[in-house]
Amino acid sequence: MPKKYDWLIVGAGFTGAVIAERIATQLDQRVLIVDRRDHIAGNAFDTRNEAGNLIHLYGPHIFHTNSPKVFHHLSRFTRWRPYFHHVLGHVDGRFVPVPFNLETLDQLFPQAMAQRMADALVAHFGFGTKVPITKLRQAEGDEMSFLADYIYDKLFLNYTMKQWGCTPEQLDASVTARVPIVISRDSRYFGDIYQAMPVDGYTAMFERMLDHPNIDIELGVDFAHLKDAPPADRIVYTGPIDEFFGHCEGALPYRSLRFEFETHAGGRVQPVGTVNYPNEFDFTRITDFSHLTGETHSHTTTVCEFPQAYVAGENDPYYPVPSPETKSRVQPYRQMAQELKGKVWFAGRLADYVYYNMDQACARGLSLFEKELAPAALGMEV
Ligand code: FAD
Ligand code: UDP
Repeated sequence: MPKKYDWLIVGAGFTGAVIAERIATQLDQRVLIVDRRDHIAGNAFDTRNEAGNLIHLYGPHIFHTNSPKVFHHLSRFTRWRPYFHHVLGHVDGRFVPVPFNLETLDQLFPQAMAQRMADALVAHFGFGTKVPITKLRQAEGDEMSFLADYIYDKLFLNYTMKQWGCTPEQLDASVTARVPIVISRDSRYFGDIYQAMPVDGYTAMFERMLDHPNIDIELGVDFAHLKDAPPADRIVYTGPIDEFFGHCEGALPYRSLRFEFETHAGGRVQPVGTVNYPNEFDFTRITDFSHLTGETHSHTTTVCEFPQAYVAGENDPYYPVPSPETKSRVQPYRQMAQELKGKVWFAGRLADYVYYNMDQACARGLSLFEKELAPAALGMEV
């Protein structure tokens, strides 16, 4: 019996939606995309709350990429509003620019001392460079080690303990390297060529991406209920990799978050999009959506992020945990996934168990389509 669909895609986030659109338009094949949530767009989902403010239900999502390919691909489904994200960190009673940069130095130290440290940083690394905290901590000299210890203690250690439940050293260096020390006066949180927000929001962008006669969407459907009799012979799975295999090699760790939204009467409640609180409170950061969306209403909505461990059935697995320990634990699952290739492909933040940003999830979808899915559909498998 021929199946109703050529492809089943599990998960309607960036990875799954990008792939569904490619299959529908480039291969002219039928796709069913399912998600166990009651909406599309995965963790990038945004919606209007009762006050009429556009909010990101799973925490603040700011689009940034260095990839022209990704930016132009997504531009088919949205117009953009240029937006440079700025973050302040609460350090020693002041709100100072993050990433730590030469402005931050000026705001935290007496002038002569800030100048000496700025000179030392420039001499050591060069003006305009970006230095991960792990690298700064290896730099020699009294000035450098004082500064490295200061930034580590005041900005990274406690934030990381809250966010991940462990120290920066227990994680891959790539985690803290996402927020390097910037040896210039560029206070923007991201350094990418393209930094912009979809004009009508992410969900609207996904609606346009998935609006094709070859694509059916079923929401509130868990793959667990389809896997014994899938409606297609080829499956792309973007959920947690360990869950797919029934956790047979042990459950992988993920970090989760609890979000507290608050709506305030009046305009903006903080001067920048996000304020980080590395050292105080149980939460890590507060974001004021009005900066991200560019919308100003009679009310403003903020979201506060409280990190927690992921517990199946209780919360969502938002972050894979990049560390030497998880690298070896995920390996057997990757091996099993490899063996299913041709029938099931694994991709995305949860299925690859990689800390992707949205643009990386999109790039992963595009590349999987081009290198593996299209050749498989055209009978060109190697
Ligand atoms: P997801 O968006 O997680 O989508 C996977 C989908 O699969 C989910 O909707 C899930 O419900 C569904 N699913 C899983 N298992 C099943 C199953 N068994 N059956 C049916 N459906 C299933 N990136 C940025 O670029 N900029 C940011 O500012 C940014 N901020 C972030 C802030 C937070 C708090 C978080 C958590 C992430 C942030 N990201 C950001 C990362 C971004 O969310 C991800 O890169 C992106 O969502 C990954 O897309 P994905 O499709 O791989 O996964
Ligand atoms: N980080 C930190 N202090 C900060 C900002 C970031 O220690 O003020 C570390 C922390 O470990 C965090 C990581 O850098 O998890 C990556 O930060 P990013 O803002 O990229 O995290 P995301 O937006 O993905 O949650």
